[in-house]
Amino acid sequence: MIYARKQKQMIERLIAKGISDRQVLRAMAAVPRHLFVQPGMEFQAYDEKALPIGFDQTISHPYTVALMTQTLQIEDHKRILEIGTGSGYQAAILCEMGARVFTVERIEPLARRAEGKLKDLGFHFLSRVGDGSLGWPAYAPYDGIIVTAGAPVSPASLLDQLKEGGRCVVPIGDGEGQMLTLFIREGRELRKFEIEPLSFVPLIGRDGWKKP
Ligand code: SAM
Repeated sequence: MIYARKQKQMIERLIAKGISDRQVLRAMAAVPRHLFVQPGMEFQAYDEKALPIGFDQTISHPYTVALMTQTLQIEDHKRILEIGTGSGYQAAILCEMGARVFTVERIEPLARRAEGKLKDLGFHFLSRVGDGSLGWPAYAPYDGIIVTAGAPVSPASLLDQLKEGGRCVVPIGDGEGQMLTLFIREGRELRKFEIEPLSFVPLIGRDGWKKP
């Protein structure tokens, strides 16, 4: 397989950068990331960079995907809500790890393209087009919520949809950069941890940024 060597190098880089969750590494070694990038960019798919996917949006860096997934602590059959389907790659990693995936995207053509790719790979998931800053209340509560776009403040509607003991990873900050933040629900309280600074496209919606 022509991408196998690049995919192996990506995994070695992730380990060198501190990713240690074996299930995350196994999933990222299994899912063909080159199928989720734009035609002509396949050879860059395993490099440590975000790539354009159209509509001014990106597929996140491999390290970002790995770090966010590791922070969520996925287990089989856990119900995970993803906000920002984008290319579908992050959703594929979650499915590969055995999660029950619910994913929301605001840009319809991106959602449809991602759905097609995920289905072609045989993954089962539920997806919706809409404002994910409000979550997906119909299927709440979730064991985990992963927001793959930068929010200006803690997204209250999303945090309300988190189960007891559930974890939400969300980048929070201004347009310049964000802090990847982890919330863990403990009863009515939310414990908050700052993980590491990262840079994302904006979360646009009622509980996000107001303008594209
Ligand atoms: N998870 C994606 C992947 O694996 O390719 C990367 C997503 S990209 C960095 C962020 C995505 O969030 C974009 O596709 C963007 O359209 C989407 N987005 C931004 N605001 C949103 C909102 N309020 N609801 C749903 N999706 C949103």
